[in-house]
Amino acid sequence: TFCLHCCPTISGRLQGSGPGTMSMKRVEKFWFLFLLMDFLISFHTTEAISVKASVSLFHFNRTVFERCECSLYGFNSPCLSAQGMVGIPVSADLYACDRNTDFTVMKAPWIALIERGNCSFAEKIQIRLAAERGAAAAVIYNYRGTGNEVLPMSHHGAEKIVAIMIGNLKGMEILHRIRNGMKVTMVIEVGKKRSLSVNIFTILFISVSFFVVAAATVGCYVSYSARRLIIARAQSREQRQLRAKAKKAIEQMKLRTLKEGDKETGPDGDSCVVCFEQYKPNDVMRVLTCNHVFHKTCIDPWLLEHGTCPLCKCDILKVLGVTLVL
Ligand SMILES: [Zn+2]
Ligand SMILES: [Zn+2]
Repeated sequence: TFCLHCCPTISGRLQGSGPGTMSMKRVEKFWFLFLLMDFLISFHTTEAISVKASVSLFHFNRTVFERCECSLYGFNSPCLSAQGMVGIPVSADLYACDRNTDFTVMKAPWIALIERGNCSFAEKIQIRLAAERGAAAAVIYNYRGTGNEVLPMSHHGAEKIVAIMIGNLKGMEILHRIRNGMKVTMVIEVGKKRSLSVNIFTILFISVSFFVVAAATVGCYVSYSARRLIIARAQSREQRQLRAKAKKAIEQMKLRTLKEGDKETGPDGDSCVVCFEQYKPNDVMRVLTCNHVFHKTCIDPWLLEHGTCPLCKCDILKVLGVTLVL
């Protein structure tokens, strides 16, 4: 995505010039950040593509008290249905990170309800449940204070059983029912649609990075054209001053008016090399520092244009102490 043509300042600076090195580093940093953002965005997007799970909850007497498509299958979970009585850990905490954790229900088919935290998802799902206790599924509810937010879990090495995440509030609700002695059965099914759940952060990220890139590009252009304008103005001002100085210096060279009988007006006389006219009496002549003479009206503009004598190529302006960039 690094395009030199997008930003004249970048390309200009790449081609050389001393003070450019500092901002080259800045530009590199900027592009590094942009690529990092790109990476993060794509990362977020892949994370957002996840499979919804439909969860139905039943009382002991099989009355549905809840059904929602509000949970997500873990990345490494088989996208299959699972059902069973819900069991919670019988221990001081509900994380089920301890290898010897027992559950209130452990008779197949059963589903383990575990709180998120303290150890990895894989540890909660694979070692404690699927391998050793034969649960049909692991349902992990999110941290306290996250409402009903869910995210797709990553749990490498724990691919054998169904694993889903449900919101904290939903998890707590089930937990309370079980603690109050209610028998809860859960049915997990694949949700109807694969959802691209674009969360607010993804949108924010994309818009912020877009804004940053756009602002940087605009800023780049503005500073480039402003600098060009300033340089051009300074140059033309300098040029004008130099021309004025040159004009003054030229005007200080000797003048001579031709008279009848001067050798320039005779039959062997020269003609002006600028206008090719034969010299006549009363012509006003400019005598250059090299002693060559020409019409004043011809040589003055010539010198401003070329700076040198048209005959001997002597650098008249230089002799007069003016350096004009021609
Ligand atoms: Zn002339
Ligand atoms: Zn000359």
